[in-house]
Amino acid sequence: MSSSAQNAVPAITLNDGRTIPQLGFGVFRIDPDETRRVVSDALEVGYRHIDTAASYRNESGVGAAIAASGIPREELFVTTKLVNPRHEDAPAALAESLEALGLDYVDLYLIHWPVPSQGKAVQAWTSLVQLREQGLARSIGVSNFRIADLDEVVAATGVTPAVNQIELHVEFQQHELKAYHAEHGIATEAWYPLGGGEVSQAPAVLAAAEAHGVTPAQAILRWQLQSGNIAIPKSSHRERQVQNLDVFGFELTAEELEAIAALDLGAAGRRGPDPSTFVAPPARS
Ligand code: NDP
Repeated sequence: MSSSAQNAVPAITLNDGRTIPQLGFGVFRIDPDETRRVVSDALEVGYRHIDTAASYRNESGVGAAIAASGIPREELFVTTKLVNPRHEDAPAALAESLEALGLDYVDLYLIHWPVPSQGKAVQAWTSLVQLREQGLARSIGVSNFRIADLDEVVAATGVTPAVNQIELHVEFQQHELKAYHAEHGIATEAWYPLGGGEVSQAPAVLAAAEAHGVTPAQAILRWQLQSGNIAIPKSSHRERQVQNLDVFGFELTAEELEAIAALDLGAAGRRGPDPSTFVAPPARS
């Protein structure tokens, strides 16, 4: 299944002209000691887009799996993220990430959180623009940015992030932010794409899954992709990795998409931290 599965993954064109595979593999909360094995599995079953972060403390495991895979660098898409306390220090932080990953460049470098109380997002974004000019990050973007945060960095630099990676799942669909992204040419990347482990068993999800002979997780990922989102599900289990990649043989109908859209709880659906107050990642995240 490996290469044919990945061949089925569509590419999304970013506002800088580069492309990103619409489905990738996230490594949040994978134990550093386990990361090499889990990512090796993910690469073997066909993922070519890996999403890590300095704060996950598992970049070196990702790097070891990449090195052992023998997959040509240009076939891979690797994202990492600038940790919150280092907004003033992005060049050194990226150098450390590249060292841990064993790479000369990342495909996408993100500011992990805006941290408004710190007030350094513009400084961080200015550095990321330079890092892209130096070729150390092919594309640059942000994560967990609100509309006000996006407005601020664009007004200060004239450079629009290619991607905003945000919490987005069936109960928290982020319509307002997505509309802003669409208007400004920012790609929406969904974290918690499955809902963070509590895969929804809502009737609309179960009905779509049953109609297409797939699992609820597959139905949800299909909804993510058909909604235009980039999705980066995580699983430490190889069979679930295979399952999550096997979502290109069916299509949800307009009625099924509508029924899943109705599961949105608006602001009440948020399960992760609120970007307006989040300062530091929790221990070991
Ligand atoms: P996900 O929505 O990907 O859910 C992962 C959970 O779902 C795990 O508990 C996993 O269990 C379980 N799971 C995976 N596949 C299946 C399946 N087919 N059936 C049933 N259960 C399944 O949540 P994440 O929080 O991991 O988000 C994905 C990625 O997004 C992260 O890994 C990270 O890269 C990124 N992220 C970014 C954030 C940011 O601030 N920018 C914040 C949080 C995440 P198991 O592993 O046991 O299979």
